[in-house]
Amino acid sequence: MTEIKIEKDKLIPCVPTRDLVVFEDMTVNFEVARGFTISAVKKAMNGDGFVFLIAQRSVAVEEPEKKDLYKYGILGEVRQVIKSPSGVYRCLVHGISKGKLLDLVKVRDNCLYASIKLVNIGREKVSEVELTALMRQVSEAFENYLEVIPRIPKELYYDVASAETPKELFEAIAYNIPLPTDDKQIMLDLNTYGERLAYLLSTLSHEIEVSMLEREIHEHVSSTIDNQQREYFIREQIRALHNELGDGGDVDESDEAQQYLAKIGELSASDEVKDKLTAEAKRLVKMPSGTQEAVVIRNYLDTCLALPWSETTEDRRDIKKAESILEKDHYGMKKVKERVLENLAVRMMTPDIKGQVICLYGPPGVGKTSVGRSIARALDRKYVRVSLGGVRDESDIRGHRKTYVGAMPGRIIDAMKQAGTKNPVILLDEIDKMSNDFRGDPSSAMLEVLDGEQNSGFRDHFIELPFDLSEVLFITTANSLDTVAPPLLDRMEVIELASYTREEKFNIAKLHLIPKQLKKHGLKPSQMRISADAIYSLIDFYTKEAGVRKLERSIASLCRKAVKQLLENEDDKKIVFKASNLEEYLGHKKYLPDLASEKDEVGLVNGLAWTSVGGVLMPLEVLVLEGKGKVELTGSLGDVMKESGQIAVSYCRSVCDKYGIAPDFYEKKDLHIHAPEGAVPKDGPSAGVTMVTAMVSALSGIPVRKDIAMTGEITLHGKVLPIGGLREKLMAAYKAKIKTVIIPAKNKGDLDEVDDVVKNGLEIIFADNLATVLENALVKVNKPAKPVRSAKKRKEAVLTAN
Ligand code: ADP
Repeated sequence: MTEIKIEKDKLIPCVPTRDLVVFEDMTVNFEVARGFTISAVKKAMNGDGFVFLIAQRSVAVEEPEKKDLYKYGILGEVRQVIKSPSGVYRCLVHGISKGKLLDLVKVRDNCLYASIKLVNIGREKVSEVELTALMRQVSEAFENYLEVIPRIPKELYYDVASAETPKELFEAIAYNIPLPTDDKQIMLDLNTYGERLAYLLSTLSHEIEVSMLEREIHEHVSSTIDNQQREYFIREQIRALHNELGDGGDVDESDEAQQYLAKIGELSASDEVKDKLTAEAKRLVKMPSGTQEAVVIRNYLDTCLALPWSETTEDRRDIKKAESILEKDHYGMKKVKERVLENLAVRMMTPDIKGQVICLYGPPGVGKTSVGRSIARALDRKYVRVSLGGVRDESDIRGHRKTYVGAMPGRIIDAMKQAGTKNPVILLDEIDKMSNDFRGDPSSAMLEVLDGEQNSGFRDHFIELPFDLSEVLFITTANSLDTVAPPLLDRMEVIELASYTREEKFNIAKLHLIPKQLKKHGLKPSQMRISADAIYSLIDFYTKEAGVRKLERSIASLCRKAVKQLLENEDDKKIVFKASNLEEYLGHKKYLPDLASEKDEVGLVNGLAWTSVGGVLMPLEVLVLEGKGKVELTGSLGDVMKESGQIAVSYCRSVCDKYGIAPDFYEKKDLHIHAPEGAVPKDGPSAGVTMVTAMVSALSGIPVRKDIAMTGEITLHGKVLPIGGLREKLMAAYKAKIKTVIIPAKNKGDLDEVDDVVKNGLEIIFADNLATVLENALVKVNKPAKPVRSAKKRKEAVLTAN
């Protein structure tokens, strides 16, 4: 956007708009018909083209004054004005910048002029992670919105799905769908795209709710009327035919019921099911048609008849084929594939085995859903994905009683209906995002679904009949296991999908994501190429994630750019993306690598944290101030870190002598502990060793080695306890060019999971107490570092072993 400056007190032709709110960078086409608006547009056209568009609070006001207008409008540029034969003017205006209306002046020829103050979009107030979460929620809400609002073109979703920044997402939605003017105005008033998106989310949810209610009412009314009328006509026709034939017989009221009874007869289901359905169909006979109750019964019968009571597919019992499918669909994940194949092998050997639920656990974008789909393909079973994110209500799982207006079966029965077979693979996505509230606990219903002992007679409130889920292969996915109810977790075999290393991401991109996206965008490999250095660049500078979802999105974005360029320039036959030209296409680099500080410093230690985007280097600072023994924590430190802070203070008191710390520091000094904002660590306590080291250094004045990083939980007695996410943390240290890392001795076993490149590139010190940590981390402390096993030695060990 070009930077525009408006002199103070400059008067700009002003067009009060009715039912129209314009945003920055939005081009609108609208009509002006009132004398003073026409003159404003003309004045703008004859002058510098600027016009100030501002919405009227009420459309009924013909000649608005300042009080009739909102506070904020948009400074626009008139691009075109066409006069229609009827005397109205059609204008094309491009919004440039938001402006606050300071004053409104009316001149003799009735034209309105405004003096304004330009207001630029402000800096986001929330963290990047929160913004990403918000963007995801908005896209999901928009998807639902498209489903319920039929008049919106579905293609809009592609723009929304490909939006990468809050601004793009906001523009893709708010500029293209009809929303109440008041809501649009509130969004214009807000000063960041984060806030605008949050408001948009609530507006979309409200619109969805209203529209669903409208639809329900409409369907209810029209189905009652339509059915009544249809049946009336048919009956009259049949009566007329009978009269014609002279048999004068009465119409068989139970025609419809007979049809249902015939279908029930053909159904291969248990007697209990057939009896219940038969009873319902018979109730239909007695019911005057067109009543609400008849509608309920018909809906019920239709749903039950569509369920796969006995249909099954034959499992493919070929483990070699399963292996080749998993291999073909996914790069790497050796352990995951092994465990999945073991599970499938058992299943193939003993088909009657019940209740084995696989839980694929790992950060977003590491291929959980995609492994689930491959499992279905390997077994040659039908596949249905059920998203559980945001499910708060038991009835979401188990349905509503059929007597409720608009009642439906729950998600599980619905998935069975979609699958059409009794033994599909059902992927229960994001089981950790299920929560409970006053409407009942969905996890207890889920327990019944997943429990092999109980699920052969799963009862849905709507169906009111036991439905056999025992042949379904349930796979669940979760980002975190902490929020999964323990009884549920007990029933699952957890297979962990770890975050990817840079090399793995590179290979996944090269072998899977790029070919997939090329195909999706109709491009041939001869038309577009992403060079190896560009792939690394995408990984390092344009994405920061544990999985490859954003990487895939960036590749898709490059594909779109290539398609556009190929279409625009016929001379271009092949687009090659290289690291050197990536900025031209994707804009500035979004992330720069974490780097350790440049010199040994007092009170500053490189911690290692494990976050939702993988491992990160998290420097921790401690500052000592004159005071009264207060400990203050700021930055991304959660409550758990507060405890570590207290433990650290107590430990420091116990080692005052050794490090020359004033013994009364805890009464006379305040300590300020700060970890920079950023992704919030998943495992708070693992910063324990970092905190002690920073504190001892700050209190004693001994600097900390700049090339060392550490992680570990601590006890009051100075023991170092094991931590999670070692693989990710070491990867982060390696990327940040750290030389030495201190890790808890008890984590030694986890080194097997760490990549060799990373292991060999780092000197690893195992510590089981804080003394070892301090000895190695503090610069001037007597003994030099003595690693338990250096990288070099480890290499030697490998060589001798071979
Ligand atoms: P999750 O369910 O864990 O959030 P997805 O299954 O949606 O992740 O994966 C995101 C994308 O990355 C998908 O297109 C998937 O096919 C791809 N992907 C992830 N891991 C791999 C892998 N190891 N090999 C090939 N493609 C992968």
